[in-house]
Amino acid sequence: MDIQKLKEDLLKGKRRALAKAITLIESKNPHHKELARKLLEGILPYTGNSVRIGISGVPGVGKSTFIEVFGLYLIERGHRVAVLAVDPSSQITGGSVLGDKTRMEELSRREEAFIRPSPSGDSLGGVARRTRESIFLCEAAGYDMIIIETVGVGQSEISVASMVDMFLLMQLPNAGDELQGIKRGVMEVADAIIINKADSDNIKRAELAKKQLENALGILKRQDKDWQTPVILVSAREKRGIDEVFSTIDRYVKMRKSSGAFEKKRKKQSVDWMWSVVMEGLKSLLESNEKISSIARDMENAVINQMTTPSLAAEYILSRFKESLCEGGAPWRG
Ligand code: GDP
Repeated sequence: MDIQKLKEDLLKGKRRALAKAITLIESKNPHHKELARKLLEGILPYTGNSVRIGISGVPGVGKSTFIEVFGLYLIERGHRVAVLAVDPSSQITGGSVLGDKTRMEELSRREEAFIRPSPSGDSLGGVARRTRESIFLCEAAGYDMIIIETVGVGQSEISVASMVDMFLLMQLPNAGDELQGIKRGVMEVADAIIINKADSDNIKRAELAKKQLENALGILKRQDKDWQTPVILVSAREKRGIDEVFSTIDRYVKMRKSSGAFEKKRKKQSVDWMWSVVMEGLKSLLESNEKISSIARDMENAVINQMTTPSLAAEYILSRFKESLCEGGAPWRG
């Protein structure tokens, strides 16, 4: 494979080169990994010039309907739109929540759009890592609006929130008890909440849900004091509320850029990402060391049988790991 040619085609914005590059970084083959590393290093100076937007919501809330309409709206305004999915459910169910049906057909036919399903068969950590790298590739290929879509189940939302500039939570027009279902941690990371399907019979319920959400958000303490999380009524089907979503994103990005918070968050995300890769690597080092992994299994049993506490067990594992480092032998040789 000619990496230099791939890089040139990528920088020219060729969609096939972008698809090929993402396949390369998703590959587990050690030779491909090395090529992917070279490619990523080569394109790094051309990355960063985008707005990265996360969108999450339960299956059926209308994410793909909305992203299609919103993507076409962005293209009309001269943007190039990439849509990436983070869906670790394929690992558990064998099928993917996001990828099975034909989604966003009209958007996918547009030259200014690039749509990529979630990498499959990996842990959330693995999916997240490859999605972050795909963001760089999309940016190098000239996509200036990057949408990362995820299902509203479990940890994946928090993971996506940690790789984007702005995180949008999409809700059904549910009020009262049904509203309680939103996890607090997810509300806290939402920079805006979209209530979709605010149309026909749902309008009244949607307005009530908006009021209740605004009250709930009023109680939550946000980390940045300059921004009150807005709740926006949308009908993706009737293409209403799209303008307001766009102007909210625009307002948020301008505000964060002028205060310096935009860059600061990106830098923090990069450093956090570095450490999460280190932590993952350390864990697999521990696991690949026969002596330490056998001690770890003993400690797991000791914790299960309440013979020791989790933190004492962890300290013991770490001290034995340190010992093996001091013995001079590389710890991964066992
Ligand atoms: P996803 O699973 O979150 O991607 O949801 P989809 O976009 O596939 O939409 C699920 C269903 O909701 C489909 O039948 C859509 O036609 C419908 N839907 C999506 N947006 C709207 C909307 O704004 N109003 C109404 N009434 N239905 C919608």
